[in-house]
Parts: sequence; C-alpha cells; structure tokens
Amino acid sequence: MVKELQLRVNLVEERKDNVLQLKAAKKLGINIADITSVKVLRKSIDARKKEVIFNYKVAVYINEPQPDTPDYIFEYQDVSNAKEIHIVGFGPAGMYAALRCIELGYKPIVLERGKNVQDRRRDLRAINQFHEVNPDSNYCFGEGGAGTYSDGKLYTRSLKRGDVRKIFENLVYHGATDQILVDAHPHIGTNKLPKIIQNIRETILKHGGEVHFETRVTDFIVKNNKLQAIQLQNGTEMAVNAVVLATGHSARDIYELLHKKDILLKAKSFAMGVRIEHPQEIIDQIQYSCTGQRDELLPAAAYSLVHQVGNRGVYSFCMCPGGFIVPAATANGEVVVNGMSPSRRNNKFANSGIVVEINVDKDLPKYEKYGVLKGLQYQKDLEKLAFNAGGRSQVAPAQRLTDFVEGRLSSSLNDCSYQPGLNSSPLHSLLPKLIGSRLRKGFAAFGQKMHGYYTAEANIVGVESRTSSPVNIPRKENLEHPQIEGLFPCGEGGGYAGGIISAAMDGERCAEAAITNL
Ligand code: FAD
Repeated sequence: MVKELQLRVNLVEERKDNVLQLKAAKKLGINIADITSVKVLRKSIDARKKEVIFNYKVAVYINEPQPDTPDYIFEYQDVSNAKEIHIVGFGPAGMYAALRCIELGYKPIVLERGKNVQDRRRDLRAINQFHEVNPDSNYCFGEGGAGTYSDGKLYTRSLKRGDVRKIFENLVYHGATDQILVDAHPHIGTNKLPKIIQNIRETILKHGGEVHFETRVTDFIVKNNKLQAIQLQNGTEMAVNAVVLATGHSARDIYELLHKKDILLKAKSFAMGVRIEHPQEIIDQIQYSCTGQRDELLPAAAYSLVHQVGNRGVYSFCMCPGGFIVPAATANGEVVVNGMSPSRRNNKFANSGIVVEINVDKDLPKYEKYGVLKGLQYQKDLEKLAFNAGGRSQVAPAQRLTDFVEGRLSSSLNDCSYQPGLNSSPLHSLLPKLIGSRLRKGFAAFGQKMHGYYTAEANIVGVESRTSSPVNIPRKENLEHPQIEGLFPCGEGGGYAGGIISAAMDGERCAEAAITNL
C-alpha cells in the first residue's frame, strides 16, 4: 500500500536520520517496521513564524517496495537522415526545441553565434578582468544561452504552457541533481549548469543532430511570404524548411533586422531598475529571525518583494542568495548587471534585481519616433547612461541604498561581489524619474516589510535592464509568424518566456509546431 502524507519537521527533528519514517508511522498509526521506504515528493521551508519548519509531502510505501522506474523515459532516435528543422540560438529554448525534434524523428540543425561552454569561459574572464565584451560570446550569448552562466533557479509561473515535470526530469537525465524534482524552489547553480548543457549537446550530436557554434544568422531570405533560406555571417545561404527563432531578448540585431525587413514586430511592456546587494547574513537574520549566523541546515535565505507605486509595480526579480552580481552586457559601450549563484549558495552576499514596470504604451512618449523598437531604445539609453556613470568600462555605477533613497552621493561604498568594480555615482539623480523615484519609494516600503532590509550596508548597482524582452515577435495560433510561413518565433526573445523553464517549454512547443506545419 502507498499513502501520501504531509509532514512538518522542525530544525531539531530534521537532524535525526529517520525522522520521516518516525513521523509517518506515528501519523498513520502503524509500526515503523511496516514502512519499506518514504519517498519525498516535495520539500519546502516555512520561515514565516519564529520556528522554522520543513514541510514535506511524502509517499509512504507500506509492506511493498518502492518502484524505481522514472516518470519519463527519454528515447531519442537516430535522425541523421531525417527531414531538417533549423534552430537559431542554443539557449534553453533552442536546446529543448532540438531535443524535441529528435524525439519526434526530425533532424535539428542548430546555429549559435557564441562559443561552446568551455571556450566561452575565456570571454567571461575578459569581461570581468579587462572590461572587453565580445558581442558574440558573453554572459548572454554562447552555448546554453543566458541560461548557462545564470543562477539556475528553476521556478516558473508558466505551469499551463507545457510539461514542467518533463523538463525537470530531462535536466536530471542530463546530470542535474534529482533534488530539483522535490524542492519547492529548485536551483542548479552556475557551477553545475555548463556540464548539463554540454551533456544536452552531446545527446543531440549522438543522435544525428547538428550544433554549429560561432555561426551567427545575419539575414532571412523570404520569397512570396515563405522563408526560403537563412544567411550566415560568412555569407553562406542555407535553404530551410522551417526555422525556430530562439535568439533571446539580447539579440538586438535580430529585432533590428526583422524591423528593417518590414517583418511585423510589436512593442512590449517590460521592467528595468537596479540590482541590490546585502550581506547574506542580514537577509538570513531577517528571514529566519535569528541573530548571528543561520543554522547550518538552512539554505542562504531568499526573499520576494513587491510594492505598487503610482499604479506601476516595483518588485524583486531573480533574487540570488549567496551569489554574485555579474556583468551581462552584450556589447562594449553598455553596462548591464544580473545575478547568479553557485549550487551551494555560499557566497557572503545576497543580490536581487529590483525593477519597475515600464508600460510601453504610456511611459515612453519621447521614444515614439522609434516605433515598435521604442522600449529597446530606452533600454539601450539606460545601459549607456550606466556605462558613462561607471567610468566608461564595465565598472558599474553604485550607491549605498540609504544614500540613493535619501538623495545624496555615497562617500564610500560597501564591499561588493561585482568583479569589474563599482564607481560611486548619484543614481538617484541620474536614473530617469520614471524609474528612480519609483525605486526610491519601493525601497522605503520594502524596509517596512522586511525590518533590517533598508540599510546603509546594502549597495544598489546599475542597471538591471534585461529582465524581459521589450519587443514581441508575433505569432499565430499555430505559432508561426503571421506574415512569414516557416518562421516560428520562440522563447524569451519572441516574448513568450521569462526564464529557463518557460523558455525550454516554449522550445518544445515551437519544435512541435514547426514539424506539424512542414
Ligand atoms: P537565450 O538564453 O537568451 O538564448 C538565445 C541564444 O541565441 C544565445 O545563445 C545567443 O547567442 C543566440 N543568438 C542570438 N542571436 C543569434 C543569431 N543571430 N544567430 C545565432 N545565434 C544567436 N532564468 C531563470 O529561470 N532562473 C535564473 O536563475 C536565471 N538567472 C539568470 C542569470 C543571468 C546572469 C542571466 C543573464 C539570465 C538569467 N536567467 C534566469 C534568464 C534565463 O537565462 C533566460 O530567461 C533564458 O536563458 C532564455 O532562454 P532563450 O533560449 O529564450 O534565450
């Protein structure tokens, strides 16, 4: 017999080896010897009250063995000689589009402007140490896309858009810890992601798919509203049946190319702001109601904050406990920050984007002349502003939180995880009012919600500008572009995803759609 149960375990109990068996036996009124095993289905931490509680959902196997068959069996066939689907971009959307093609018996041909995960590392070092940004290989571009040197948090709100469980199981199949199948807030970590992504590439190659690195797509050849071919940066033209366009939200050249070719795009609302960094210990003490260091059984604490300022949301985004702020620019002449953390989340800082909703229809009257690319231009201008304020390198402009809110330049800054360095700047007056004044009100409100959050020990660092795409590449119900037969806009760049898992699910859907429409 198998029984599902919810169990609550406190910190003292969590230290015992067989606490789940003991609690399950007690709750079911059975002898512990009758329990063959207890399988954890879900684990979360509730720290809202003074006593921290681990909530478990478990399946208790009583007098019967626990089967060890996985929920999903991944069967990839040899597609070396199968019909081809071209996929532009090898981020989560492109990777899962390619895997889905193979599952369905089609040959994916992936074209990726960046380098493989190993070679990409050298370019990341160049950004951090020498402030040189390779426009084809950086924190956003290269094998695995923006997802590789990311934080690897795997939460998604897009549960209805696909089979989340299947993507998680597939990540485990490719080397992720099976802990992601049970954690309420699953996380892989930037140190573990590259190997998983390399394993995904190897699956694709082993079954006859192709992955071409350092191969940027520079043009689309369209005849009679049908996509005929794609052009590569070396001038080669490749004839295509169908193209999944999964180039991510930082591929500005792709938006500009489509716009130039009169291919329909739409402006999309998005969000921008800054990244805030606190000592992790402060966040732990607030969230776990503790003094000194958190209990060793507890992970570095996270938070999620939201506040309405004059009918626009100000909210935390991509919070990285125990993490680092990273330079996520995709070109020289701009400063963009983002965050990531290793699997153990053991760095001494907690960082998070704090961003303000930008409504493209109402908030950018001065940018109307840029038409559908107005949000993109606004983003570019803010990133350039950060570049100039930082000192025209990858050094980022920063301010102590209290100085930002109270409107004065910081005479000194706190230590920070951002490797290229910080420059004290008057962000309170530099940022457009639309963002700056809302952020200041938002931070003051966050200090009320989380006592200790509003502190001079926190830095804010500019700018967090790439939260989501400011452009939407439209698609019909069958996921094809309304004007171009054979073009399937996909993932975050199309405006259909916001994170690793939702991009991966959209990749699967676009591959299915491209195949159905062949
Ligand atoms: P991308 O990952 O952007 O991939 C697009 C790919 O297309 C890139 O590899 C690019 O090189 C390639 N490309 C672009 N133009 C061309 C061209 N012309 N020709 C050929 N190839 C091209 N999300 C989470 O869910 N959790 C997190 O914890 C998280 N942390 C993040 C931390 C950082 C530092 C960053 C930068 C992002 C983070 N994200 C996180 C966001 C997440 O990485 C993205 O949402 C996701 O990668 C989007 O997937 P995608 O496949 O749609 O696009």
